[in-house]
Amino acid sequence: MPTGWDAAHRIMEILEEAGHQAFLVGGSVRDRLRGAEPSDYDVATDAHPEQVMVLFPRTAPTGLSHGTVTVTAVGTPIEVTTFRREAGYSDHRRPDEVRFVSRLEEDLARRDFTINAMAEDRRGQIIDPFDGRKDLERGRIRAVGQPTERFTEDALRMVRAVRFAAQLGFAIDPMTESAISACRDRLQPLAVERVAAELDKMWTAPHPAYGAVLLWKHQLFRYLPPFCAWDGEGVANEPLHPLSGLDALSHSDVRWAFFLFACGVDEERMGRRLRSLRLPGRRVKRIAVIARIAAASSVPLEEEEAKRRMLDIGGEGYQQAISLLSALGRLEPETAKQLERQVATWWKEMPVQRREDLAVDGRVLADALELQPGPWLKPMLEFLLEQVALGQIPNNEQALIDLARSGRQ
Ligand code: ATP
Ligand code: MG
Repeated sequence: MPTGWDAAHRIMEILEEAGHQAFLVGGSVRDRLRGAEPSDYDVATDAHPEQVMVLFPRTAPTGLSHGTVTVTAVGTPIEVTTFRREAGYSDHRRPDEVRFVSRLEEDLARRDFTINAMAEDRRGQIIDPFDGRKDLERGRIRAVGQPTERFTEDALRMVRAVRFAAQLGFAIDPMTESAISACRDRLQPLAVERVAAELDKMWTAPHPAYGAVLLWKHQLFRYLPPFCAWDGEGVANEPLHPLSGLDALSHSDVRWAFFLFACGVDEERMGRRLRSLRLPGRRVKRIAVIARIAAASSVPLEEEEAKRRMLDIGGEGYQQAISLLSALGRLEPETAKQLERQVATWWKEMPVQRREDLAVDGRVLADALELQPGPWLKPMLEFLLEQVALGQIPNNEQALIDLARSGRQ
């Protein structure tokens, strides 16, 4: 199967044959150099978007205003962006103006960190005007150019520095790190969505505790939305739980829950705080349920109650809630492991795990009961699911219809 690299390579070839320059840039160069699989491949070129769109049969104008066209080659979509410079950051969050340029070096100079400011041509030659490779080898996050200027232009870069530290386990270069302290009051105008997206990436990183330590070390919460706008106490000056707990957890949802507990958010305010982070509704619900289970769990677990909760967030979600209890220091790790195994067994034993497993669906049920489908269906199906999952009735069409009928009377 062709890979992202094959697609990027093919695109660079076609651009070069048409007389343009084309390079792999950003995270993909960094990841290839450190021997990791890039999450995506970005191509930069001196060709303007309309020239790119003429050269390839399958394109989508995904970000024309900042020069990006998505080109699909050998079945894989790749973002192709015209070399550009950014000017004027009067609101510290987005450039007032994007200008296309003809030199790769100018495009690399607008990038945030030296390790993200390298390019690779299709023959594998690396273009590295800011010594990114050396920083990659030494394990350093260093701003391109003057760090305070770069953080003043776009304050999100401070959060990104912390995120890359957590992802790569790198130290932040001393000058760059002291610029974070010096510029942190510029964080306030940032869009919550951009902040939450970086933190979310941090919770999938190999060293999330390290990132969280840096956030507290520089007291970024006082300035960082949405935390700075939280009413009441805001975020605790010191984490309320040892941050090493984050590294022991295995999923971004449960890491969010732990992090918010460490911030001092109690269970009652968890939903509101999560919504203020503007995470997708589905995630908010899942994280809140994990937090609620962890807050309420008693040991030994009650089987029926556990099974009911599992219908909400799945067996894995319940296991995560137990690992959260252990990270919060409320359960011995050994006991937590035992409980996780117990929960996995219960989950496997359940005759149905989700609504689609039921022997009836909404349409069949509405027909059998001679009722119009409507809002009554959802709670009814949930009730039937619980009854079957708990072994109260068999998963058989007639039994389900009978129970639904008696429930309607
Ligand atoms: P990931 O593997 O997480 O996608 P990445 O380095 O590709 O990491 P992206 O957010 O996808 O990060 O950004 C792609 C590239 O764009 C970066 O490598 C960097 O060169 C540049 N970049 C992104 N955001 C900024 C920013 N706020 N300021 C300057 N350059 C940026
Ligand atoms: Mg990327």
